[in-house]
Amino acid sequence: MEHPENSHEYKGLTVNSGVSSQPTVNPYRKPNRARKRLLSAGEYVEGILKGNVSILGQAVTLVESTADIHQSLAQEVIEKCLPHSGNSKRIGITGVPGAGKSTSIDVFGLHVLQKGGKLAVLAIDPSSERTRGSILGDKTRMEKLSQEKDAFIRPSPSAGSLGGVARKTRETIVLCEAAGYDNIFVETVGVGQSETAVHSMVDFFLLIQLAGTGDELQGIKRGIMEMADGIVINKCDGDNVERANLAAAQFRNALHLFPPTPSRWRPEVLTYSGYFNLGIDKVWDMIDRYFEYVKKTGYFERKRNEQAKYWMIETINEQLRDSFYHTPEIRTLLEQKELRVLNNEQSSFTAARDMLDFYFSNLRAK
Ligand code: GDP
Repeated sequence: MEHPENSHEYKGLTVNSGVSSQPTVNPYRKPNRARKRLLSAGEYVEGILKGNVSILGQAVTLVESTADIHQSLAQEVIEKCLPHSGNSKRIGITGVPGAGKSTSIDVFGLHVLQKGGKLAVLAIDPSSERTRGSILGDKTRMEKLSQEKDAFIRPSPSAGSLGGVARKTRETIVLCEAAGYDNIFVETVGVGQSETAVHSMVDFFLLIQLAGTGDELQGIKRGIMEMADGIVINKCDGDNVERANLAAAQFRNALHLFPPTPSRWRPEVLTYSGYFNLGIDKVWDMIDRYFEYVKKTGYFERKRNEQAKYWMIETINEQLRDSFYHTPEIRTLLEQKELRVLNNEQSSFTAARDMLDFYFSNLRAK
């Protein structure tokens, strides 16, 4: 066939008609309705009990949501999961930033999974503004663990009051247990009150410390050491081994001065290296021994019952507080009363009483 350019009619300027460009959005794509649609409580529960990770994740998002419609659905799901929960080892892990929590949880987690079972890693960090995007952040923090199909890693519910954040984590524990996670780690950054919140929802509380930072005593000052069932000195590797062993001896001495723990378990002090994977089995042997001990003495059950009561009262406190401070008239009244108290026109106590009287009479009127 002749080339078109050889034709006498060919002008050289002819513009091919070309092809139309592809649409940027795939026209065959099915609208993703499934994600938007809320499942029914029964559907959530069924999925959770089957260990469906995607449904578990959605249910946790529901628990974390502040929207009323989500909250009532979440409460129904939790209620239905409760009979299937409780069958796990709940372990709290705390330590100052840099102590090596993520590194350690990564190796502790793999160690636990090697023995079989499933592991959920949750966190309480009330200062955190972390949002959904940070799930990725947490996955990179626990690089190996996040690739394990039997590990469910969830970052802290985003910022809110400590009570609120902690309650959501506790509710998430229930969902994870119902989904068959028989090991639960609750991580908290050891800088504030959040350790107390974590302590009130776990069976074993592990404090990760570092040698030679000069702030060993801080744990004592803030009462964290008293809560610990085990103290582990991380980074016992290289030329840090001697210092780590020395720190361990100091901690052991300090612990002697403490009153006996309510469980009568004597907290142990061990050294390990999360990064180099040294001494992890020693740490885990201790934790296993603890569980054996408290199950034998009945303390395990007693503590869980105490915690259940504590969370009931905490929830009441939190909701009363919320309801009080979210009453619009109270907000105005609060501003006025604050001024009066500051100007010495009224005492703090009578001002508080006036506002509470107003709140309760207002409630009764409704
Ligand atoms: P987190 O802030 O408590 O979660 O601490 P990270 O796990 O992020 O660790 C803080 C730093 O300490 C990182 O640079 C880790 O690589 C390092 N690190 C953690 N564990 C060890 C360890 O066992 N030995 C040594 N030498 N470094 C460690």
